[in-house]
Amino acid sequence: MSTAEMCSIDLHTHTTASDGSLTPSELMALARSTGLTAIGVTDHDTLEGLDEAARAAEAEGVELVPGVEISVRYPHGRLHMLGLLLDPAAPGLLQRLELLQRNRRNRNDRMLERMQALGLEITREEVEAEAGGGQIGRPHMAMALLRKGIVGSVKEAFDRYLASGAPAHVPKDKIELTETIELIHEAGGLAILAHPLTLRLEEVGLRSEIGRMRDMGLDGMECYYSQHTAAQVHDLLRLARDLGLVVSGGSDFHGASKPDLALGAVDCGRPAPTALLHAMKERKASRA
Ligand code: AMP
Ligand code: FE
Ligand code: FE
Ligand code: ZN
Repeated sequence: MSTAEMCSIDLHTHTTASDGSLTPSELMALARSTGLTAIGVTDHDTLEGLDEAARAAEAEGVELVPGVEISVRYPHGRLHMLGLLLDPAAPGLLQRLELLQRNRRNRNDRMLERMQALGLEITREEVEAEAGGGQIGRPHMAMALLRKGIVGSVKEAFDRYLASGAPAHVPKDKIELTETIELIHEAGGLAILAHPLTLRLEEVGLRSEIGRMRDMGLDGMECYYSQHTAAQVHDLLRLARDLGLVVSGGSDFHGASKPDLALGAVDCGRPAPTALLHAMKERKASRA
């Protein structure tokens, strides 16, 4: 088997259903032309892209791993939980995500009011136009501010207005860790900690926190990630092995909204090992 055959998956990507810039169909076409054999679609707090993704994946001859990325309440850093290999029609998960989305729409309205109160000439229509019909979030506000010339870059939009602590920011409603893991399990999925280093914990703290999550039902962690160095991957692989967690790998591809993250660039520029997905399926079968 060639190296290309052994490393050809990417289990963390976004579409226009959340803050990615490609539709699910466009993403599947890119997955095929990139040479991926399997791709996880993990939009933020929504399963809405998965039907279209499944149809397109079949047409392109790529395996779709249905997923989601949920923002979890956590006292420091950022905790994002991936649900992978889940049922896109799971009623409990769908209902809870719908509530999160209603709360997100309220938050968007309040952030728009704040921007307008700050004298920024930006309308809801302009922000919606950036989202391509999918769920709206701060990146779309940033794009609208950029398009109108109010800021010179997305970074400036976040730094001056949208980041936590900035004047237009309103915190996002988040869900508890235990509930998140339960919902993913009820949907038949595996709960995988995304980009563990964004928890911003030192090595000892990281080990004990992930151990605690494993005791709550965590199945695995994203050791291979576009932003990890080879040394970080090495340390995370050892941690996963010590804790008996399955290993995932993803690029966090968003398209033009995060142009530095290329599809399939998971492990220092290469896709993740295909064997990871087999191990995940075995883990899922052993849970059932
Ligand atoms: P939201 O869910 O509306 O809070 O938006 C979250 C999105 O905003 C995620 O995709 C983040 O990566 C992105 N984001 C957060 N902070 C920044 C920043 N400082 N610069 C660019 N993007 C950011
Ligand atoms: Fe995102
Ligand atoms: Fe994330
Ligand atoms: Zn992501």
